[in-house]
Amino acid sequence: MQLFEEADDEAFRRLVREWLADNLAMVAGGFPAPVSPHDMAFRRAWEDHLCACGFSGLTWPKADGGHELPMGRMVIWLEEYARSGAPQGVNVIGHGILGPTLLHFGSAEQKARYLPGLLANREIWCQGYSEPGAGSDLAALRTQAVCEGDHYMVSGQKIWTSYANIADWCFLLARTDPSVPKHKGISFLLVDMKSPGITVRPIRQMNGEQEFNEVFFDEVKVPVANRVGEENSGWAIAMAAASFERATYFIPRLVRMEEEFRDLLQLARAPRPGAGVPLEDPEVRGRLASAYLDVHVLKLFARRMLETAGGTPGPEGSYLKLFWSESHQRLLDIAMDVLGPSARLGPQEPAAAERRHWQRDYLWSRAETILAGTSEIQRNIIAERVLGLPR
Ligand SMILES: Cc1cc2nc3c(=O)[nH]c(=O)nc-3n(C[C@H](O)[C@H](O)[C@H](O)COP(=O)(O)OP(=O)(O)OC[C@H]3O[C@@H](n4cnc5c(N)ncnc54)[C@H](O)[C@@H]3O)c2cc1C
Repeated sequence: MQLFEEADDEAFRRLVREWLADNLAMVAGGFPAPVSPHDMAFRRAWEDHLCACGFSGLTWPKADGGHELPMGRMVIWLEEYARSGAPQGVNVIGHGILGPTLLHFGSAEQKARYLPGLLANREIWCQGYSEPGAGSDLAALRTQAVCEGDHYMVSGQKIWTSYANIADWCFLLARTDPSVPKHKGISFLLVDMKSPGITVRPIRQMNGEQEFNEVFFDEVKVPVANRVGEENSGWAIAMAAASFERATYFIPRLVRMEEEFRDLLQLARAPRPGAGVPLEDPEVRGRLASAYLDVHVLKLFARRMLETAGGTPGPEGSYLKLFWSESHQRLLDIAMDVLGPSARLGPQEPAAAERRHWQRDYLWSRAETILAGTSEIQRNIIAERVLGLPR
């Protein structure tokens, strides 16, 4: 793709910005205006368009169908993507976790079978790790995979499985040896969601959306050829998979937070009917000033992590996760107070002047201190592995 050959960073940024603006307008033009970036059909159409235009596998090796984009360019792409307001795709777990996992641990056959479907966005993936009794303590999982010749019989229950209701495939962790210590008896399996014995029950979230699910496996037949890596090596694979793209995970989130801060300040300066606490309120002024500092400290953290850790942060990545998720919640708490009942307005409503769904984003942000390791777990990691405190 010509855009990726551009020699100069600033020219590359400009081209990315223009491409995103033009193509977003084109894809959105196929929907009744204005379309929400949270609309599932829009998200899917946009992601299909990106992939059809070759914007997938950006950092993957060229030999595997990627573009081998260097980290600096990837950062520019992610920053511009976040600024453009483009929706998040629905195959984020496939592109962000499963793809890099197969690149590192998949057999040649597995790469040939699954990577092209990911690059073209033909197959949507979900991640079946968490269970009702195994979340923070993931290794306590109880879903079993019993080997019967050339296949496993998988039985158990997963929960909070994002996108399982639309996924074609699930990569899951299942216990293949209950007799050894818990981390050592787990395997990493690729499961066709159309297999007999799978039941998906969507869970409605408090913001009204329905993204995650309960998934039940009742004697589901999974070929042994669908196991990634050796039997009982699933824990190490899952831990490595969690570190892929961890450094770049925060870039779009920090850009979005900075933009949210700016938009909020603008709305606070020119309150509309139904707004809440005025900007003259000394407490609100203090909280906004702190939020401004949070955004800047986060940006410095992220930059230092990218420069020093070269993209694969160790336990210090926990600082960023903890600080980002908690300060983002604080920012949206201020938004609720400042915007008052007018925060209910979203871009789809005729009276709305702003481009954000403040109330929806406030509700969604509650999940940010839970997913990818809760705040308590991040604090444990910092205490034990960074500060060396006793357990
Ligand atoms: C939006 C969203 C999407 C998700 N998508 C997926 C997905 O696609 N696939 C998937 O497998 N999972 C997914 N999850 C699940 C997520 O990984 C778990 O919610 C998370 O790991 C926490 O596990 P839990 O919910 O079982 O909480 P628990 O582990 O039961 O924790 C409950 C509370 O106890 C605290 N706690 C637990 N252990 C300790 C400890 N040792 N010390 C101190 N406090 C502790 C926790 O911090 C928390 O406050 C998703 C979650 C969310 C919110």
